[in-house]
Amino acid sequence: MSAWHKTACILCSLNCGIEVQLEGRRLARVRGDKSHPGSEGYTCEKPARLDHYQNGRHRLTTPLRRRPDGSFEPIDWNTAIREVAAAFVRVRDTHGGDKILYYGGGGQGNHLPGAYASATRSALGSVYAANALSQEKTGEFWVDGQLFGRPSCHTAPDFEHAEVAVFVGKNPWQSHGFARARAVLREIAKDPKRTLVVIDPRRTETADLADFHLQVRPGTDAFALAALLAVLIEEDFVDPAFLRDHTNGADDVLAALRDVDVAVYCERAGVEESVVREVARRIGRATSVSLLEDLGIQQSRHSTLNSYLEKLVCLITGNFGKQGTSNLHTQMGKLFGGSRSDRRTPVGGHRIIGGLVPCNGIPDEILTDDPKRFRALLVESGNPAHSLADSQRMRQALEALELVVVIDVAFTETARLADYVLPASSQFEKWEATFFNLEFPRNVFHLRAPLLDPLPGTLPEAEIHARLVRAMGALGDEDLAPLRDAATQGRAAFAGAFLQALAAKPQLAGLAPVVLYETLGKTLPDGAAAAAVMWGLAHNCARAYPESLRRAGFGGASIAQGEALFDAILERRSGVVFSIDDYDETWKRIETSDGRIRLAIPELLGELQTLRDEDAVQRDPAFPFVLAAGERRTSTANTIFRDPAWRKKDADGALRISRDDAAELGIADGGRARVTTKRGSVIAVVEVTDTLRRGHVTLPNGLGLAYPDESGADVVRGVAPNELTASEDRDWLAGTPWHKYVAARVEAIAG
Ligand code: SF4
Repeated sequence: MSAWHKTACILCSLNCGIEVQLEGRRLARVRGDKSHPGSEGYTCEKPARLDHYQNGRHRLTTPLRRRPDGSFEPIDWNTAIREVAAAFVRVRDTHGGDKILYYGGGGQGNHLPGAYASATRSALGSVYAANALSQEKTGEFWVDGQLFGRPSCHTAPDFEHAEVAVFVGKNPWQSHGFARARAVLREIAKDPKRTLVVIDPRRTETADLADFHLQVRPGTDAFALAALLAVLIEEDFVDPAFLRDHTNGADDVLAALRDVDVAVYCERAGVEESVVREVARRIGRATSVSLLEDLGIQQSRHSTLNSYLEKLVCLITGNFGKQGTSNLHTQMGKLFGGSRSDRRTPVGGHRIIGGLVPCNGIPDEILTDDPKRFRALLVESGNPAHSLADSQRMRQALEALELVVVIDVAFTETARLADYVLPASSQFEKWEATFFNLEFPRNVFHLRAPLLDPLPGTLPEAEIHARLVRAMGALGDEDLAPLRDAATQGRAAFAGAFLQALAAKPQLAGLAPVVLYETLGKTLPDGAAAAAVMWGLAHNCARAYPESLRRAGFGGASIAQGEALFDAILERRSGVVFSIDDYDETWKRIETSDGRIRLAIPELLGELQTLRDEDAVQRDPAFPFVLAAGERRTSTANTIFRDPAWRKKDADGALRISRDDAAELGIADGGRARVTTKRGSVIAVVEVTDTLRRGHVTLPNGLGLAYPDESGADVVRGVAPNELTASEDRDWLAGTPWHKYVAARVEAIAG
């Protein structure tokens, strides 16, 4: 029996610790890692099938260059690096580095590429970036920024301890979102003293466990949340001491919500007023309430307003800064930044939130004659041609660019449109980590050691970026040699030399990840050069959260704390609890000038008022259904699973439709239907279900990917949802797409 090797699941942001037995290069057996301090042995069913990612036929093993006729030819790494570096430098020197957009930087399991790419971007002067977060979470980040002072003031729920748990547009049974999600849901559901509330147009697996399920009409979450808030105020469940001591602007918020006509809003949302009142009373009387929102409301009408209303439920009832409620957690590396809230995109003027260009606005920044348009794109661990709204327009945009370079393990839909494709080593062939460290009061970071050598022909991203930066002439041996010498004398000597080098040549700061990789990295044990960037982050963490680190066992002065944390990160193969908080820490993390929560957000209070005159059902008779394009199911994961064989059921990603609608349209379970939107038309297999309201249909995420069959010919299974979505259907403020609210027509297909 071969050894069990520790790593983590890379299929969702939880990154549960797992152990893997290898057979050659196969991930033969997978089990939960009981020593992982976050997941403690828990997994869902998906990581058992990770070998489909590791060893599928999608793996690339040589750099590719596009020929003039659109086909690709293999080239060697030296040629690829030289030509890619020269092509980017040409764009920078002709149009300016700000015309080079960076997309991606990591998925659900790999964020070190984004850290190393920051050096390449710095060498190029690339200042605009986008990734999946900017079509999912930026509305919520913007609300956090308004309430707490910065978009990175991110709240962590505490469902382990909450008396009442509320999920809004969120199905943690499938999309997880907090540690040991299914176990925690079961614990809440079976405890008569605790209550589970779900607000969702679908009767999800979580809703099946819930005490209350408000099965709202699709796209009407804002009405339901506003009604819930209005009842909390009307029935006197507001916490006046909390509002007085910790917030500004509460009077404006309460006044706006008092205007809500509860009966009318409940009717528009399609939910019973009496049930909404019961839910409000349960929340109002609880000692602790935690809420969590997700794509169900973030990718629907009133996306940013939904996030605001969801957070107000916690804040007006004082469910913040204590056990079982929302708290502000520590961060090992920031997933997003951007303290400036006034930044806009150069052509379309779209709001840049958390430093991210909204994905739905990207085509507007390319398909134009404006001289400020983006001219080149570097894509890393991302697949915008498939994953962003309006694939047709996205493909047009990619084809209009002067240069597209993709770094990925697979020949993705985006790679097929690139000028160069650079094959990366898989997430199990290199040192890797994520910055999804979003927990409170204990926060965990996990640096994963490789299970396997890189597949021949591939390189880890740290090495790719190091080579690109050198090929661009941004870094030379004269910069690195003294630091390499210092690194051999120990980390104290290295730290001194590193600070001296930055003082002498400030532009090295932007290249720091590659500088660390090339110098300190070469001295790290077990070939962990790519972990070098964690040295700087460990010290940042020590400076930002000294008390939290001390509680986690990292004592001493700041430098000693940073070094001890870095050692622990390198040594503990199941991950490290890097911070332990007490609840008072939350208040220190509010970054408004006076440390108070700014409860009133004028833009969103204005939008709240517009609900009064809004018709909850805005249907074009030509498109009478609302399609949720991208439902999470047990048979879907992120798109790094390209091999359709990983899916044990629902192989073609069925269109779900209610029994009554199916009967009326004459569509049988297992039959086929045509789904048409203003943007496209597809044919899907049908699953008739009792979990949806009439007028609502759903398609899963992650399908419609090309995968080679045994002869090498591409086969596409299922529907790519973004063939049906439109980039202009987005939130007015954050630009987040309305994937869960796509007007559609459904027709039976004979036979
Ligand atoms: S919950 Fe997420 S990270 Fe954990 S095993 Fe399941 S898919 Fe993987």
